[in-house]
Amino acid sequence: MSWEVTTVVDNGSMSATASQIPFVEYLVLDDGAPHLVAHECTQCGARFFDRRNACASCFGDEFKTVSIDTEGEVCAFTIVAFAPPGVEVPFVAAVVDCGGTTVRGNIVNCPPDAEHVTLGMRVRLTTTSVGVDEHGVEAVNYAFELA
Ligand SMILES: [Zn+2]
Repeated sequence: MSWEVTTVVDNGSMSATASQIPFVEYLVLDDGAPHLVAHECTQCGARFFDRRNACASCFGDEFKTVSIDTEGEVCAFTIVAFAPPGVEVPFVAAVVDCGGTTVRGNIVNCPPDAEHVTLGMRVRLTTTSVGVDEHGVEAVNYAFELA
């Protein structure tokens, strides 16, 4: 029995071709600073992150794409202590009011406790790496950090 040994040389070229893809459809990475977009009902102004056939508020069926403020205020949060294997705990899951639009996201770059995370705290959008595939493409998600 013999083993064939293959030497893989990493010449650093990966970084030149590496690209990023957003982890969620409504995170925009390739148009200025990272930001979120929503579908806004043209009749009543209700905003939805997922694609809708009709507005849940007024049943209107026309939407336009709008950019969401990248800064906001924490209006609810919970500290998650239990999660599936592979998910680092504890972490802070929050609801953030971004200029009137409610956005769910985790609070990062901050100790996950009630001393450091408070209601009404000002936060801003940031991005986190979810992982990199074998082609060097990085999946990027959004989160919030102290503004
Ligand atoms: Zn509507």
